[in-house]
Amino acid sequence: MMQELQLALQRLEQQASTSAPILSLYLNLQPAIEERRTVGARLRNLLEPFQDLETKLDHDGRMALRWATQKVLDMEAEIAKNTGHGVGVFVGGSSEIDEFLTLPRKAWDVAVAAPRPYLRPLAAALDQFHQVATLILDPRRSLIRVTNMGQCLDQSEIESEPIRKSDYGGWKGLDEHRVRQHAEEVHRRHYREVGERLRKMKENVGLDVVFVGGREETVAAFLHELPNGLRSLVAETFIVDVNTETDGTIAKITAELEEAFEIRQELELVKQIIETGQEGGLVTVGVDDTIRAANFDAIELLLVAGTSMIPGWACGNCGWLALSGPVCSACGSEATAVDDIVDSLLIKVRGAGGRTEHIAAASDLDQHQLAARTRFQVSAFQ
Ligand SMILES: [Zn+2]
Repeated sequence: MMQELQLALQRLEQQASTSAPILSLYLNLQPAIEERRTVGARLRNLLEPFQDLETKLDHDGRMALRWATQKVLDMEAEIAKNTGHGVGVFVGGSSEIDEFLTLPRKAWDVAVAAPRPYLRPLAAALDQFHQVATLILDPRRSLIRVTNMGQCLDQSEIESEPIRKSDYGGWKGLDEHRVRQHAEEVHRRHYREVGERLRKMKENVGLDVVFVGGREETVAAFLHELPNGLRSLVAETFIVDVNTETDGTIAKITAELEEAFEIRQELELVKQIIETGQEGGLVTVGVDDTIRAANFDAIELLLVAGTSMIPGWACGNCGWLALSGPVCSACGSEATAVDDIVDSLLIKVRGAGGRTEHIAAASDLDQHQLAARTRFQVSAFQ
C-alpha cells in the first residue's frame, strides 16, 4: 500500500490543469458498517460549495467541473466499501485524471477543485507510517517481521541450534552447571544471529524503528548482544508469550506501538523546534516566517499542525508563495489564489529536498500551525 501511495503522490504532484479544474476529495470512514450510510450525504455536503465556484469558470471549465462532480457522486457505492479506511479521489483536469486511492484511516473529509490536485491529506497519511521491524524473541526460535502500513515486506524465522545435554557427562553437579553454561552460550549465539539477520534486513529493505517482544529476561539478554547501531532503533520492548502469538496479535501490537511511537516522535519534534526557536537557532515558528523560509528554499524539515486550510497565493511564474495577492512580490506576475497555501508549501519544500511531517497529535504547535527547521537564517528583509 505504502509504495503504491508514494507513487500516486509523485504522479499527482506532476498534474496541473489550467483549463479544467481537478477535483480532489477525501473521506475518512470509521470501521462501523453504519458508516456506509453516511457517505452519500457527506459527498453532497463536500461538493455543494462548487456550485459557487462554477460562476468563476468559463463554459468549458464549468462543464468539466460538473462532469467531475457527478463522477464523484456516482462513486458513492465504491467509496462506501472502504469502511475502516480513508479514501482519496482525484478526477478531471485537462488530462482527465481518474485516481481512486484507499488510504490508511488518517485522512479527513475535504474537497477541493483547483488547477492542481489537493495532496495535503495524502502526504499527511503517508508520513504517519514507518518501516517497522517487530521481533518476537525466544531462546529457541525467533521471528522478525518488517512491515510498512501493516503490509509485510520481509519476514525471517531463526531457529536456534539444539542444546546437546548428552555431550556433558560426568559428575552430576558439574554436569548441570556445564549444561547451563552451554545453554547460555547457545542462547547468546542465537541472539547474535537474530541481530545479524536484523542488520541485513535494515540494509536490504531499510528500517526506521524496531520493537522487541518476548519474556523480560529474553529481551534483556538480546538487547545486551545487539550492536549500538541497531540498539538505537529499538523504540519499545514488550512482554509476550511466544507460544500464543499469532500473525494477527503481532500485527495489532505493532500497530499500537507504532501509533504511540509516532505521537511521541511528533511531540518530541515540536518540543525541539520550539526550544531551538527560543534559543535563537535555525528554525521558524508561525505561518509568515515559515512561508518566507520556503520561498528561499531554506527548509530542511517542515512541520504542519492540524488540518485547517490557509488561503493564499502561488505565483505560477516564479513559484513564490504569499498570503496576499494577486501581484507576486518577487517577480510582479499575477499569482493564482490557492485554497490552502500549506498544500503548495508541502510541494515546494519537498521539491527543494526538504522533509515534511504532519503533527496530528495536539501540541504547542497548534496555535502556530507551521514551523520549520531551516538550513540557514532567512532574515525578514530578504
Ligand atoms: Zn512570481
